[in-house]
Amino acid sequence: MSNRMREGPFQESSYYYPAERIIAYLRTLKVTESYENQFLPPLDRKIAILTHDDQFDPEMFRIEQSQEIRSTWFLLAERLGETIPAEADVHLHFDKEASTLGEQIETYRAKRGRSPRFNRIHRLLWRANNFDFPLLAMSGIEVDCTLIGTKPYRPTIEGRLLPIWEVPFSITDRTERFMASYSLSADFEVLFKAGLSPIVILSHPFSVCAQHQLVSCFYEVLGLVKRYGYQSMDMSSFHDRFLSKGRPGGRDGKNQSVTRGSPAALDQDQKTEGPP
Ligand SMILES: [Zn+2]
Repeated sequence: MSNRMREGPFQESSYYYPAERIIAYLRTLKVTESYENQFLPPLDRKIAILTHDDQFDPEMFRIEQSQEIRSTWFLLAERLGETIPAEADVHLHFDKEASTLGEQIETYRAKRGRSPRFNRIHRLLWRANNFDFPLLAMSGIEVDCTLIGTKPYRPTIEGRLLPIWEVPFSITDRTERFMASYSLSADFEVLFKAGLSPIVILSHPFSVCAQHQLVSCFYEVLGLVKRYGYQSMDMSSFHDRFLSKGRPGGRDGKNQSVTRGSPAALDQDQKTEGPP
C-alpha cells in the first residue's frame, strides 16, 4: 500500500455504506431542539488517554505495565487472534477497505466473545459526519476516536443527538509525509502546559512506526504525562466515569439546546437538574 503524497486527482478508496439503513436509523432518533454538537463539560482532572492502533505490541504493553500507564488498543479484526493479555483494553479498528463494519464486528465477537463498544477507523478514512456517525452508532459503537480535535462531543444531525461520543485525539507520531493523521501542536508539551483534558494520544506500535517511517511519540508522551501530573486512563475507564448514561455529559449549562427533548442518555439529567 502506497502512502506517498502526490499531486493530482486523489483516488478515494471505495467502501460500503448501507444508506437506506442509515436513513431509517436516523428516523428512529428523536428530533430535539439541539442545533450543535454537544460537548463534554470541562473536566476537573488532568487525564491522558493513550491509544494504539492496528496490532497489539507486547513490548509497549510491558513498558506501560511497568510504569502504571493504562492504554487502549484499536485492533484490526485480522489481528484479534493474537495473544493479548486479558487486562488490555481492546476495541475495534474498522478497516473500510477490508470488509463491512458488520462483518468486522462479527469477527470481533467471535474472537473476543463480546461486541466492540469503541472504534477508531483504520487510516482515519472518514467520509462524512452524517454517514460515519450513524453507521457506527447503529452498529452499537458507543465511542469513536477517529477524528482530530481536543473536546469530546456527541454529534447532532438535523436535531437528532446521536447516542455516540466522538473522543478526538490531538497527539500522534510525527511524520515527514503528511498522511491521514497529524498532531494539533508542533510541540506536544504545549497541550500539557495548557492543562488540556483529556489529552488523547494516538501512538502506533513500534513495528508500525518503523514500517511507515513514523517517529514514535510514545516515550515523549510518557515523560510528559508524568512531568505534568496527568492521570493515565484507558478509554473504557474514561467512558465509564465521564461519558456513560446518567452523567451530565454533553451539557455545560451554557448550551441549553440539549435539555429539551433529548435522548435517553440525557433524560436522566433533566430529572435532577430541572424541568424538560
Ligand atoms: Zn490503522
